[in-house]
Amino acid sequence: MPAFAYHRPASLDEALDLLSRFGEDAKILAGGQSLLPLMALRLSHPANLVDISRVPGLNEIVEDVEGGLAIGATVTHTRAEEAEAVHRLTPLVAAALPLVGHRAIRNRGTVVGSLAHADPAAELPAVALALGARFIAVKSGGQRRVAAADFFSGFLTTDLAPDELLLAVGFPPQKPRTGVSVKEISRRSGDFAIVGLAATVSLDEAGLIASSALSFFGAASTAVRVTEAEEALAGQSPGPEAFEEAARIVSQSLDPPEDANGTTAYRKHVAGVLTRNALADAIDQIGFAA
Ligand SMILES: Cc1cc2nc3c(=O)[nH]c(=O)nc-3n(C[C@H](O)[C@H](O)[C@H](O)COP(=O)(O)OP(=O)(O)OC[C@H]3O[C@@H](n4cnc5c(N)ncnc54)[C@H](O)[C@@H]3O)c2cc1C
Repeated sequence: MPAFAYHRPASLDEALDLLSRFGEDAKILAGGQSLLPLMALRLSHPANLVDISRVPGLNEIVEDVEGGLAIGATVTHTRAEEAEAVHRLTPLVAAALPLVGHRAIRNRGTVVGSLAHADPAAELPAVALALGARFIAVKSGGQRRVAAADFFSGFLTTDLAPDELLLAVGFPPQKPRTGVSVKEISRRSGDFAIVGLAATVSLDEAGLIASSALSFFGAASTAVRVTEAEEALAGQSPGPEAFEEAARIVSQSLDPPEDANGTTAYRKHVAGVLTRNALADAIDQIGFAA
């Protein structure tokens, strides 16, 4: 580890003061499951760590009156995974959480930390993008909301300023007649995905596809939605023909990076296969005949 000064603020104001004082020279420490490995590898060397784990009020999962859900900054993956409200109100989040690393990582790592870290191969940024999540960012003297579509700006990069803390992530209510699915392929269970997909499909009253979200991870420098395929699905009868066409568009549109885990062509092909399977799974949950 490179040397650093450790700060453990006892209040949100104190944490924000520290961030404002140190700016670029500070990093927030939540569960440490991404930041500490990066520091151990000397890929990140902040002079100050601001540990938010003891800040009161951040470890909350809150239902809003409209049927949405907010998850606070220090809620761990495990806590969210075990929360009844997460399963009831945000089934896509519930489906993704067991795929985040291993149990030991989920016991310490936080939902919001994963979003702030913005790994393009991580499940939760793709889920946030699929659901149109909203992020609440605070700094000394100010608070703002950022839509997921504007939050992830590049590889491990977000719209957050160095003196901002992500207070919570808010997920909107799920539409009626909606099914969800998260599919991924990885070398071993618990590994980061080589490529994966967080999908939602909503049907109208006649049983046709009203809207969908096809949000991929491990397929670009950020989580990415394939809107062309989503548009092609709108108004279609849910079934193999529509799913096949969406899969074709996905494989054609994505231009994933090549690395030791897979070529671009392999990832494009797998993304198409996952699309077909995820759409069929999601529709099955709604109970309409596909
Ligand atoms: C072996 C291993 C396997 C893993 N597999 C997966 C996987 O399959 N899928 C997956 O998604 N992840 C995986 N991870 C990563 C990990 O689960 C998450 O990235 C992690 O949980 C992030 O949350 P954290 O609380 O640990 O964040 P930290 O490591 O504490 O912080 C991560 C980054 O986010 C910033 N940050 C944290 N909280 C805030 C906040 N409230 N406001 C602003 N910035 C903040 C930090 O400053 C830092 O830059 C794996 C990790 C390991 C070690």
